[in-house]
Amino acid sequence: MTEVAEVAGAKQAQELKRITHWINGAAAVGQSGRSGPVYNPATGIQTGEVDFASVEEVDRAVRAAREAFASWRAVSLSRKTEIFFRIRALVDEHREDIAKILTAEHGKVLSDAKGEVARGLEVIEFCCGIPELLKGGFTEQASTGIDVYSIRQPLGVCAGITPFNFPAMVPMWMWAPALACGNTFVLKPSEKDPSASNYTAELLKEAGVPDGVFNVVHGDKVAVDAILEHGDIDAVSFVGSTPIARYVYETGTSHGKRVQALGGAKNHMIVLPDADIDMAADAAVSAGYGSAGERCMAVSMLVAVGDAGDELVSAIEERLPEVKVGDGMQPDSEMGPLVTREHRDKVASYIDRGREAGATVVTDGRETAPDGGGFFLGVTLLDDVKPEMDVYKDEIFGPVLGVTRVGTYDEAVRLVNENPYGNGVAIFTRDGGVARQFQFDVNVGMVGINVPIPVPVAYYSFGGWKNSLFGDLHIYGPEGIQFYTRGKVVTSRWPDPATSKVDLGFPQTR
Ligand code: NAD
Repeated sequence: MTEVAEVAGAKQAQELKRITHWINGAAAVGQSGRSGPVYNPATGIQTGEVDFASVEEVDRAVRAAREAFASWRAVSLSRKTEIFFRIRALVDEHREDIAKILTAEHGKVLSDAKGEVARGLEVIEFCCGIPELLKGGFTEQASTGIDVYSIRQPLGVCAGITPFNFPAMVPMWMWAPALACGNTFVLKPSEKDPSASNYTAELLKEAGVPDGVFNVVHGDKVAVDAILEHGDIDAVSFVGSTPIARYVYETGTSHGKRVQALGGAKNHMIVLPDADIDMAADAAVSAGYGSAGERCMAVSMLVAVGDAGDELVSAIEERLPEVKVGDGMQPDSEMGPLVTREHRDKVASYIDRGREAGATVVTDGRETAPDGGGFFLGVTLLDDVKPEMDVYKDEIFGPVLGVTRVGTYDEAVRLVNENPYGNGVAIFTRDGGVARQFQFDVNVGMVGINVPIPVPVAYYSFGGWKNSLFGDLHIYGPEGIQFYTRGKVVTSRWPDPATSKVDLGFPQTR
C-alpha cells in the first residue's frame, strides 16, 4: 500500500459510524471483537461498522429484558396506551429521518422508504387499541354461583430476527404488538442495515418505554443461535429467507419456544385475456421493480393466459425505459441499487442463466445500470420462462421479472399451487366470477384481485402458506396479538358460606 492510500484508508476508517448494541436503555459497545461492514449501496462505499454480539452479550440483553418484564407486565393498559400514542407521535414526527437512514443503508428510494415507515406506523396505530384487543370473554352463572372468564397474558421475553429488506417496518410488525401485549423484547436486525433499529430504540425510550423493555443486539448466526437456544426467551418471530426460516423454526421449537418464521417467496401475477392490459402492465412494472424487486411481496413471475402474452410483454417493454434508476436520495429516482455487491452480482447472473436455459431476454438491466461504484442493476424482463428453469424456481430477489405463458386459467392456477412458496399472488381480470373462483382455488396466503402487492392492512394479519411460513400464526393484526399472548380461563365462585359443603364428585355444570 502506498503512503497516500494508507492515509486515505485511515481517514475513511476514522469516519466510519460505529453501530453498537442497545441494552437496558443505553447504547452498549460490543465487546466480542467481531463486527461487520455497512455500506451505502448507492455509492458502494462503506459507511459504518456494526458490532456483532457474542453469546454473553445476547445473554445480557435477555437478562435486562427478563428483569424488566415483571414491572412492564404490571403497567396498566391505560398507561401502555398512553405510551403507544407517544410512540406513534414520535415515529410520525421522525418519519423523514427514519426514511433517510433506510435509504442510506438499504438503498431504496426515499419515497419508498417513507412508504415503509408509513406501513409500519399503521401497526403501531393498531397497537394503540390494545385495551380493546386484549378484551377477554365473560360468562356469568355458568353454573349456579359460578362465573367463567378468559384472559390473555404476555409470554415473557420475546425475540425478533429480521431481514434487510424492511429494516424499520418488519421490526415494527414484531416489537409493537409484543410490547403492547406486555412482553419485553430483544431485536436482532439484519446486519446489512442495522441503524434504524438503534434509532427506534432511542424513540421508544423518549416515548417512556422503561429501560430493558426493548433491546437490540446486532450480529450474525452467533447471535441468532444464542437467541434460539436461550433458556429465558419464550417466543421468537423471524422474517427472512426460507432456509433460515426453517432452521429458526426447527431450532427454536426444539428449545421449547413458540416460533413464527416467515420465509421467502415467488409471487405470481396471473393476467387473463380479458384484463385491462395497460392497468396490468403498470401494476407489473410497479410490483416487479419497486424497491429493486427486494420485497417478499414483489411480483417476480407473470403468468400470461391465452393471448394476453404478446400485448402484455410489449406494454411492459414500452414502460421500462421510463423507469429512473439512481441514488435513492435523488428525488427523481424511482428505483435504487441492490443491497450489496454480492447480491447484485447474484441477481445479474440470472440473466445469462435464463438465456442459456432458453428464456428470451427482452430487456437486460446490466446495459442500463448507472455507472459508478453503486450496486445497481437496471430493470430486466425475461420472456418465455418455463417452470423448470432456475429463473422460475429460485427467489431471485431483484429487478428481474419473468413472463411465462399458459393456455388456460386452470394451468395458471396449477402453476401457482404447485410452487413450493405461497406468500402472495395476484390475478388481473375483469371477470368477477373468475376472480372469486380464484380466491377459492389458490393455495397462497395473501391474494390480490387487480391488486399486485396485497400486503394486508394492519388490522388483518400477514402471512404466507407452504414454504413461506413455518408456524401456525401469521404476523401482526389479530394473529399477532394471539402469538404474543397465551390464554387463561378462570372459573370462579364467590359462594354464600351457607351453601358450602364437601362433594367429592367431578364438578358438574347443571
Ligand atoms: P436472511 O434469511 O439472509 O436473513 C434474515 C435474518 O437471519 C438476518 O437477521 C440474518 O442476520 C439472519 N441469518 C442469516 N443467515 C443466517 C444463518 N445461517 N443462521 C442464522 N441466522 C441467519 O434474509 P435476508 O436476505 O435478510 O432477507 C431477504 C429474504 O427475506 C427474502 O427471502 C425475502 O423473501 C424474505 N422476506 C420475507 C418476508 C415475509 O414476510 N415472508 C418479508 C421480508 C423478507
